[in-house]
Amino acid sequence: MSNRVVEGRMVTPKRLAELVEGEKPLEAESIEDADRDCPECDGNVISVGYMPSVTEFVTAYKCQDCEWAETDRD
Ligand SMILES: [Zn+2]
Repeated sequence: MSNRVVEGRMVTPKRLAELVEGEKPLEAESIEDADRDCPECDGNVISVGYMPSVTEFVTAYKCQDCEWAETDRD
C-alpha cells in the first residue's frame, strides 16, 4: 500500500529504512510525503519512521530521485 518508487525502484517501508540506515529495521511505519524538497536536486522527499533497535525510533528522510538522505538523529 505504501510502497513508493525511490531512485527508480519500488521500495517497501522496511526497504526504504534499510537504504537510509544500512541495516534492516525491526519495524517500519508507512512511507509518507515529507513536506520538503531535496536540497541536492529539488526532488520529492519522503519519510519513514522505523525502529533500528528495540529502544530507538528514528525518522528517515529520503529523496525519491537521488541519493540524498538524512535522519532525525542528533
Ligand atoms: Zn534529490
